[in-house]
Amino acid sequence: MMRKNPALIYTAVMGILIFAFSLFNAEAKPVFDSEQAFKYLLKQCDFGPRPPGSEAHEKTCKYLISELKKSSREVVTQEFIGKTTHKNLDLTNIIAHFGKDSDHKILLAAHWDTRPYADRDPDPENRDKPIIGANDGASGVAILLELARIFHKHPPDIQIIMVLFDGEDYGMITEDMFIGSRYFARNLKDEWRPDYGILIDMVGDKELDIYKEPYSYRFAPDIVEKVWSLAEKLNLDGIYHELGPPVLDDHIPLIEEGIKCIDIIDFNYPYWHSLEDTPDKCSAESLGIIGKLLVELVYSENH
Ligand SMILES: [Zn+2]
Repeated sequence: MMRKNPALIYTAVMGILIFAFSLFNAEAKPVFDSEQAFKYLLKQCDFGPRPPGSEAHEKTCKYLISELKKSSREVVTQEFIGKTTHKNLDLTNIIAHFGKDSDHKILLAAHWDTRPYADRDPDPENRDKPIIGANDGASGVAILLELARIFHKHPPDIQIIMVLFDGEDYGMITEDMFIGSRYFARNLKDEWRPDYGILIDMVGDKELDIYKEPYSYRFAPDIVEKVWSLAEKLNLDGIYHELGPPVLDDHIPLIEEGIKCIDIIDFNYPYWHSLEDTPDKCSAESLGIIGKLLVELVYSENH
């Protein structure tokens, strides 16, 4: 019979303890569930096109508020009349708070409305029909809904102001676009003013190509560098160091009000503003890339 070797027993016990601790730790670390995010994308698309004034717009608004209420300590809405050059619209920005009481605040935003007409559809017959907006609308919101679930489970050390903007994509000219973000920026309460903001838009494309957006780089170069260096650290596919095309988007009204805000956007999407912007052009993997990046960003910030 072999004698029991105390050193071996000690090593075995320590090994088991380290293994159990690592399991516990893995459990505690926030993990972005890209499949769940994709379900949020599908759910929004199931309502159909969601332009302001439509029944689907109203239903989606209720859905988003009830979904956020499951995880946020405070969900408020900004209901207002959005004036376009030819119409008045009933619009709603949805704002949710997460995280611990801290002076350090980050704003995360996406637009939830979809474009009322597919003016870039290859078929002229389709150009006055509303789009489903799987990528242009649902993708950014899907990531934020999944983040909301994570923030509820693992409250960040900093404050997160999450905003779903309405009226981003109503018209052909800038006056008829970014209506929700303009309203939010011009009616900003002190408690909402973040240290910086991240806007995500068109981030679900299966073939993800994200370049640094030039307005973001001009007005918030440090935030662009911070986010892009995290992407590099995580070795994420589809995020490139070069500058891409300048994009007017919901970050501009925030920048105009003195908030550093960047836009993470894939503007290389052939189905943009066409009836072909449907879920099959998007993927859970792409949502997962941006989700993982934002999880890393939020949990690496200290209060
Ligand atoms: Zn659009």
